[in-house]
Amino acid sequence: MSIDVEDYFHVAALSGVIRPDQWDSLPSRVEQNTERLLELFDKHHVKATFFVLGWVAERFPALIRKLADHGHEIASHGYSHQLIYKQTQGVFREETLRSKALLEDITGEAIEGYRAASYSITRDSLWALDILSEAGFTWDSSIFPIRHDNYGIPDSPSAPYSIETASGAIIREFPLTTAHIMGLSIPAAGGGYFRQFPYPVFRYLFRNATGFGARPQMFYLHPWEIDPEQPRYDNASWFSRFRHYTNLDQCYGRLERLLGDFRFGTVSESYNAYEPDKTLLRSDQLIRLA
Ligand SMILES: [Zn+2]
Repeated sequence: MSIDVEDYFHVAALSGVIRPDQWDSLPSRVEQNTERLLELFDKHHVKATFFVLGWVAERFPALIRKLADHGHEIASHGYSHQLIYKQTQGVFREETLRSKALLEDITGEAIEGYRAASYSITRDSLWALDILSEAGFTWDSSIFPIRHDNYGIPDSPSAPYSIETASGAIIREFPLTTAHIMGLSIPAAGGGYFRQFPYPVFRYLFRNATGFGARPQMFYLHPWEIDPEQPRYDNASWFSRFRHYTNLDQCYGRLERLLGDFRFGTVSESYNAYEPDKTLLRSDQLIRLA
């Protein structure tokens, strides 16, 4: 179970209508929404991994401390939620170190896991894995093995694997869950797909995900996805509004059903309980995949 801790105004789908310099003036809802998730997970005795955006950690350190105190795993979601393949390596390095240090100061623990904003580690930004490894991250969950307009490395492994970066470092990758149906890789990991498909369809996909029963699967959600009261941006494109606003009012109830239908734990716990494939790919091999 993984939660990307960010506010409704950070998302890429709304970046055309909300600028980062406006973020501080908008009503924040991340704290109350994350608290609701925390209560729900406590009620169901579920421990999750929270990938926290540095921007959020800076403004709500008490919330992050509370998540850690409740036994949840804290990992990094970067600092500014910009797409990595549009950043320079210098800016990415600076933000990575800054957000890791912030979380380590708050929790007093080493932060080892990372998830890129909008899964933006693609063939064009595999250099990010070198920088993550240099910064001390040992695992990553940013690579979606699908074809998508904004992210994904099609045909990359759907099972956890290790990547040898260009500088020779090894970083473990926990890809987002997919199901193979009629020769297609269908995202079955959560987020917008969890809201857009009827719940029984999502449950079917998750249950029929590649490797289900043999290894852990990766589910993700955002605090803003359980918040139908958030401010609406009707000036965003139709497609962005579809991606962001569909079924927000049903998401909390569906999540509660999901918690009853499957067993969940943190990413590290799940990883450590699983005997991983010995698959080791070099990052240049990921570039060459079809
Ligand atoms: Zn995000």
